[in-house]
Amino acid sequence: MAQIIRGKELAALCKQQVAERVKALEERGVKPCLAVVLVGENPASKVYVAGKEKDCAECGILSRVLRMPETTTQEELLDTVKALNKDETVHGILVQLPLPEHLSAQPIIETIAPEKDVDGFTPINTGLVSLGDARAFYPCTPSGCMKMLYSVCPDLAGKRAVVLGRSNIVGKPMASLLLAADCTVTMCHSKTKDLAQICRNADILVAAIGKAKFVTKEFVGKDAIVIDVGMNRDENGKLCGDVDFDSVEPAVYAITPVPGGVGLMTRAVLMENTVKAAENACKTLA
Ligand code: NAP
Repeated sequence: MAQIIRGKELAALCKQQVAERVKALEERGVKPCLAVVLVGENPASKVYVAGKEKDCAECGILSRVLRMPETTTQEELLDTVKALNKDETVHGILVQLPLPEHLSAQPIIETIAPEKDVDGFTPINTGLVSLGDARAFYPCTPSGCMKMLYSVCPDLAGKRAVVLGRSNIVGKPMASLLLAADCTVTMCHSKTKDLAQICRNADILVAAIGKAKFVTKEFVGKDAIVIDVGMNRDENGKLCGDVDFDSVEPAVYAITPVPGGVGLMTRAVLMENTVKAAENACKTLA
């Protein structure tokens, strides 16, 4: 039986630590504030934004949700982000993705002031993450995955880590953080040959490909720690990860569940990044 790395407990601990930092800031007269921009009516996005509002309330962070209509133009969205950049009462800015099809996300992301980029998606933050620079806002999902790994393996140095998926928001920053923790990192993607064999040699396997139950027991070794980032629907419409939990769990050392795993940690790290942004702003003023 594998150790189950539960997001619920770890996220609760992380948010409790954030709440203490928020209190310390309040004593200095600063109320951390996260602004979330939601464009259109995407039902999943609405659920994610509601989750963020709830997390903010739990941590004592002020949340400001700017709801913009589906018909919003690129220019209107850019202007909204620019206004939030200038607003000194706002410490973190997040533009909820995906945007409606007529809008282009990259120029919007690049407009977010790096010091308010609590998602960690701007080129400046991406660069800082790959430099291993602690000033970076680590993207929430990979950062949450690292916390989950450390909870079962405090010393990651020398571990063979395999990252499945090379997206800019998960796979690539995940590989950077593992490298910074002195792991030996292999990145795999849709053109990788002998995928199962490469994965079987991993001490740490991070699956972030968006393919329901793709990783089966043929992909894992018995001492592996498996982190499942995937959020997919199975054939019955049930939420599931990229890992076939039922076949993999008995075959590994530790594993994260879906739901109840990485998703919760991603949310908690967003709170951590927001309080960090507010602390940084406070230092700048001091
Ligand atoms: P993405 O942008 O679609 O990237 C998927 C990556 O997986 C690509 O690099 C792709 O390779 C690779 N890939 C696809 N099929 C593959 C295969 N058969 N074998 C090997 N590699 C393959 O996805 P993403 O945004 O990184 O998200 C990945 C998953 O994580 C999704 O299920 C998403 O919903 C989930 N997610 C969860 C959270 C959370 O908080 N839990 C946060 C973000 C994302 P190529 O580059 O060669 O195309």
